[in-house]
Amino acid sequence: METMNERLAALRHGLMVSCQAADGDPFHGPASMARFAQAAVESGAAGIRANGAEDIAAIRATVSVPILGLHKEMQADGRILITPRFEYAAALVRAGADFVALDCTRRGQAFGALDRLRRVRAELGVPVVADIARIEEALAAVEAGADAVASTMRGYSPETEDIRRFEPEFIRALAGQVRVPVIAEGMIHAPEQAAAALRAGAFAVVVGKAISAPGHITARFAAAMDREAGRLPERHIIGVDLGGTQTKFGLVSSRTGLVEQGSIATPAGGRDVLLAHLERVAVQALERARADGFRPSLAGIATAGWVNPADGSVVYATENLPGWTGAGIAAALHPRLGIPVAVENDANALAVAERWFGAGRDVDNFVCVTLGTGVGGGCYVNGRLHHGSHFFANAIGHVMVERDGLPCTCGLRGCLEPYANSAALLRYGASGGYADAGTLIRAAGAGEEPARQAIRTQAGYLAAGLASIIHLLDPERIILSGGLAQENPLLFEELEIALRTRVTVWPQRRISLLASPLGYHGGVLGAAACALEMFEAV
Ligand SMILES: [Zn+2]
Repeated sequence: METMNERLAALRHGLMVSCQAADGDPFHGPASMARFAQAAVESGAAGIRANGAEDIAAIRATVSVPILGLHKEMQADGRILITPRFEYAAALVRAGADFVALDCTRRGQAFGALDRLRRVRAELGVPVVADIARIEEALAAVEAGADAVASTMRGYSPETEDIRRFEPEFIRALAGQVRVPVIAEGMIHAPEQAAAALRAGAFAVVVGKAISAPGHITARFAAAMDREAGRLPERHIIGVDLGGTQTKFGLVSSRTGLVEQGSIATPAGGRDVLLAHLERVAVQALERARADGFRPSLAGIATAGWVNPADGSVVYATENLPGWTGAGIAAALHPRLGIPVAVENDANALAVAERWFGAGRDVDNFVCVTLGTGVGGGCYVNGRLHHGSHFFANAIGHVMVERDGLPCTCGLRGCLEPYANSAALLRYGASGGYADAGTLIRAAGAGEEPARQAIRTQAGYLAAGLASIIHLLDPERIILSGGLAQENPLLFEELEIALRTRVTVWPQRRISLLASPLGYHGGVLGAAACALEMFEAV
């Protein structure tokens, strides 16, 4: 095996700071970039990434750490390309760059990146770092001789532009497949993410704007405060809530909530039928909004199944939605709608709706539980929706309340869902002969004892499940949504009585139990709120 270039080896587990400022930025220019580089190195940066020979010469005169050079230039297709010509690479090396970065995405390869890579290594004798967005691009670059690969282009190439967050799992997958160092770069905003990149197998981590762009950093702080103070500009968002039988859709204002709404039957069929259906519904909602004079700038989709919000795909769905596992919803809808598309699990989306528009606006730690045919939930922990490491978190319906109890739709036994859903409620009230859950709840309100006893029994099981969640997360608030929680004060009274005996130090917790105020279109609000959270949140 070749020994690694010494300068490259020096970056092992190190932080590289990307010091770049575009034309028009007050910090544009070699002198500013050299000062940023100096500050970075004095505070622990192991290397610098910089653009253009002029900046690199100034940085080289200031610091001695390795420099990864690149040269950005607009191409005939209207997009920037990283180091599109051999001559640029030569100038970077002359200016003091230790390595050169080349865009080796599919588009970069179409502009001759792999031949350029070979030539840079052979004629300039410096290591080449391949900036890529996908694993196959990395493999091709390594095959051509790349000395390292960097995830720089993930989220920025045409094939990956639906990805909006740093993905440690991509770094892990990349590190597992290529035999050269993997440099994590792109959308790393926080120290925890840089540490997560190392845990995922990154050789080094590049952080740019989050360190070296004061304008960008200021904007993030200002936006966070504007959002809290209700000062964000009004946005209009298309929301679609794909249910097993009905698809609800609408136009949502970030300030006032639902503006337009509608509902249509969900067709039966596999993935293609559902994707075509979603596309049709979203396009119609968008066209109607535009006809009414609105300019929606985002779209959100809520769907059953576990969702990876980073790329808007369904990680896993049960046979309620056949073929839905693996569906790339954002990738399919984005080109048709022409606006960014966020995708989220429907129960999670309801929690996000509460956070932006409902009963969770003023709290950072809350649990939202949906009660209907199924039982689902979403948990906010320290102001963030908790997703878990595989996006499987918040399966509140499958918390065990009865060892080896009733069979559940998930295949296990004794889950909360078959003890707290609408079928369970009707079962508990069977002696009253109620036609549906709504009738039973109204009868309980009118004082009928079999109905009241049924709700008491349901509340007892719900308390058993929620006690586990409360002991784990210590929330400030429990929000109940879905048909069974509406106009059902008895459920809340009985739930509180049952929780008091099942939760330790109940009086000190002062947990509020609230009904969701969002109503029938909560899922549409949730889908839209997920888009706000993904594309507007800071
Ligand atoms: Zn279950």
